[in-house]
Amino acid sequence: MEFFKESSQTVCAELKTNTDGLTAAEVEKRLLQYGKNGLAEEKKKGIFQVFFEQFKDLLIAILIVAGIISMISGEIESTLVIFAVIILNAVLGTVQHFKAEKSLESLKQLSAPSAKVMRDGVKTEVHSEDLVPGDILILEAGDLITADARIIENYSLKVNESSLTGESEAVEKTNEVISGDKIPLGDRKNMVFSGSLVTYGRAEAVITATGMETELGKIAGLMNRTAQRKTPLQISLDRFSQKLAIIIIGICLVVFGLSLYRQMPVLDALLFAVALAVAAIPEALSSIVTIVLAMGTQKMARENAVMKDLKSVESLGCVSVICSDKTGTLTQNKMTVMEMYAGGDVFTREKLDLNNAAHYMLLKEAILVNDATETIGDPTETALVQMASYFGVDAASYRLQHPRVAELAFDSDRKLMSTLHEIDGENILCTKGALDVLLPRITKIMTQNGIVQADENEKQKIIDINRKFSEKGLRVLCFAIRPFGKCMEVQQKDETEYIFVGLISMMDPPREEAKKAVADAKLGGITTIMITGDHKITAAAIAEQLGIMEPGDMAIEGTELDEMSDQELSEKLPLIRVYARVSPEHKIRIVNMWQQKGKIVSMTGDGVNDAPALKQADIGVAMGITGTEVAKDAASMILTDDNFATIVKAVVNGRGVYENIKNAIQFLLSGNAAGILCVLFTALAGLAMPFMPVHLLFINLLTDSLPAIAIGMEPARKGLLQRPPRDAKESILNQRTLIRIGWQGLLIGIFTMVGYFVGLQTDTAKASTMAFAVLTLARLFHGFNCRGEESLVNLRLKTNPYSIGAFLLGVLLLACVLFIPILKGLFMVAALSSVQCLWIFGLAFFPTLLIQIQKMLCTKK
Ligand code: ATP
Repeated sequence: MEFFKESSQTVCAELKTNTDGLTAAEVEKRLLQYGKNGLAEEKKKGIFQVFFEQFKDLLIAILIVAGIISMISGEIESTLVIFAVIILNAVLGTVQHFKAEKSLESLKQLSAPSAKVMRDGVKTEVHSEDLVPGDILILEAGDLITADARIIENYSLKVNESSLTGESEAVEKTNEVISGDKIPLGDRKNMVFSGSLVTYGRAEAVITATGMETELGKIAGLMNRTAQRKTPLQISLDRFSQKLAIIIIGICLVVFGLSLYRQMPVLDALLFAVALAVAAIPEALSSIVTIVLAMGTQKMARENAVMKDLKSVESLGCVSVICSDKTGTLTQNKMTVMEMYAGGDVFTREKLDLNNAAHYMLLKEAILVNDATETIGDPTETALVQMASYFGVDAASYRLQHPRVAELAFDSDRKLMSTLHEIDGENILCTKGALDVLLPRITKIMTQNGIVQADENEKQKIIDINRKFSEKGLRVLCFAIRPFGKCMEVQQKDETEYIFVGLISMMDPPREEAKKAVADAKLGGITTIMITGDHKITAAAIAEQLGIMEPGDMAIEGTELDEMSDQELSEKLPLIRVYARVSPEHKIRIVNMWQQKGKIVSMTGDGVNDAPALKQADIGVAMGITGTEVAKDAASMILTDDNFATIVKAVVNGRGVYENIKNAIQFLLSGNAAGILCVLFTALAGLAMPFMPVHLLFINLLTDSLPAIAIGMEPARKGLLQRPPRDAKESILNQRTLIRIGWQGLLIGIFTMVGYFVGLQTDTAKASTMAFAVLTLARLFHGFNCRGEESLVNLRLKTNPYSIGAFLLGVLLLACVLFIPILKGLFMVAALSSVQCLWIFGLAFFPTLLIQIQKMLCTKK
């Protein structure tokens, strides 16, 4: 929030020289809006600022106090090591901060908006960063505008400029020249501005400014910020650390008091308290969580699911309902024309007769009311061009003969597309779209012998043929024309009184991997729902092929949904597996109803209008290939392959990441619990201190971090999918985990104390060295226990080679401390005999052996 205040002030100051005449309040509102959109949240921090922030932690403050106490007590080596560790921790924290920032940046790069431009007469897609003034920008519905540009060709362009002007209604644009100085942004109708969204129509515009030179860029350099927030998990862990710090201070005071009561010298009593504080603080916890989350998102990105923030990874594991588009997500979006109907005949592509007037008109219209080429464009339209080329008809030259005079672009709300062409000296309106939308507007029918009135029988025949096509899972497009005289403009109200030309059906085969993904989702307690703009019968046929719809399940249309009360919908919700002919508003209602049932919902979308539903869903999923920039902006996950199976895979990965974090936390805290119990026991029993603070810092920061990271790299197991989704409200430190932390800590603590007593038979220095070595090694072994719920027999060692590497590296570090003279001095360890080394190994291994046996018995049960 501080940042917003700062920026607003800068902008308000700038406003005095700005020509827009905006008020400070308006600018503040816009800045906040951008904050909400995630464009600006935190100012990018400098390296020193990040470094010094590492010391702000209460737990680090306790360590600093510990260091000072050591210094006062004359423990020079201890003091040096404590401060070295504190600085090392800060350096590691800083490196990690920038690493996480870099990985987020690279994720952002993957989801960065692109723009279509004409370069050397060729339409190319470029990263918005590569735009330069003078480029010709091609704008289409759904595009996020990333530069300021002047419109040169306009086809009913409408743009939402709310981010800039605060006005939520889309504004119509023009290519007329507007001259004059100091025209407010909102009135510059021949300009489009960076940060706006194209909601309708098309246009070509020449770029006048990019980056910081744009109007948006001028508003206080908004883009120059990074969006890195703490995840709920990190926040809850931070709170946990704070509570822990307070408890630690309390216990330290008690131990200190107790030691004084036993007439221990003050400095020794202080050192006891310091050891306890150091033992209890999980120094590496927060860094480990960030590392595991960042590694999880990188892995997902490699598997085609780009998470836009770390926070969503946690929610992903709780998803219990996946609402998915059909076309392109569950199906391949590779359309092939199959059967057609025109002039009273149903025929296959090969049987189209160019001598039949109705057949020929259908073919011509399929090329004209079409923006695609044989390879580029909407697959529905490319399929039509490919069909024409099968008959040797060249779409480009045919379009040149009948140029487009006007058009109404396709939009999935209207489900129609219309273009106006001059054909044989007269303007003809050509329309294609959904039959149910066009049929009520049809008055005549084209036959081989001319045009006749459309009676109810004829219309019924068309409906029957449409049903036959749809039942095979085919997508059906209806084609109609309307003579338009000399009129040169077309509006939506003109889309009526049509002459029916024909139907074309196309096959869009289901994706091969989708069927298995639906079955996998079901196994994991996740319901898959198909939400599509397509016809109900087509959608239901595909849903049945994929296993989404089973006997007893329902398919309904948007209009039926409108007629249902919330109560009725809530009752039928679990049975409805297909929603057809839906609008974006329906999507919001469906998400809402599932959320009211306590479900965590993921919703896919690609259009401009899908953005609110994507925001409403717990995990909004945008299509990377076919999705609009607006949808990508609103989503929390982007599928780079537009594939349903990737969503299911991402959910499993999300569950895996959460599980790994939970295991890593359990590992760190159970190890700490062992340390605390040992210090407490010796304090209460009036024995010499088992560990020096440096020993505990060595374990907490070095040898413990290695297995914790390895646990974070545990691959997602198959079994994860067979479990029901996690309850989103469940705390990561639930009772079960806390009990486990307690008893595993107790077990390791007991064997550490056995080591202590073995050493004590010689002297206290040996006792401390033995305790330190047993505790370190036991915690390294314990890393294997925390890889998962199952025993190592089931998990298998080699499935996570990092865990073996972490263990070996940890052992090597311990050996260095125990046997290299200079380190021995620094860590104040006594020389060990080979028998004592064997004792250490045996005692450290025993807790893991017991935990593994217990796990095996539990699995058997
Ligand atoms: P989904 O929502 O699963 O992606 P969809 O692609 O079928 O489904 P829309 O693109 O909204 O959804 O299409 C809705 C209907 O509009 C289609 O069933 C079809 O009848 C019609 N339609 C689709 N594409 C075009 C187009 N390019 N021109 C005209 N009509 C079209």
